[in-house]
Amino acid sequence: MKKPKQGLTCPKCDSKNINVVKTWNLVSPLPDREGRVTVTVMGVLKCKECGYSWRGVVSKLKVGARVEIEGGKGEETVVEERPPKEIIIDLDEVLGE
Ligand SMILES: [Zn+2]
Repeated sequence: MKKPKQGLTCPKCDSKNINVVKTWNLVSPLPDREGRVTVTVMGVLKCKECGYSWRGVVSKLKVGARVEIEGGKGEETVVEERPPKEIIIDLDEVLGE
């Protein structure tokens, strides 16, 4: 079993003690050159040290072209995990809700 890496850091106090409050997936509608679709896992993150909360990219997945979600187990699912390159901080969205 692979454990997902958590490279999340609080932008305020640099703590790595981050709580993921909630997550959702953003699926890119267009596959890349290799026919893979990028799934971005977004999350509401909260620092356990200072209480600061923000939205950011939790992780990104590249899902191969052969993925079929129809309940069958005949197809192999290729999932490649990539560490997030940057944390997107969208304060306007956080504060606007
Ligand atoms: Zn913090």
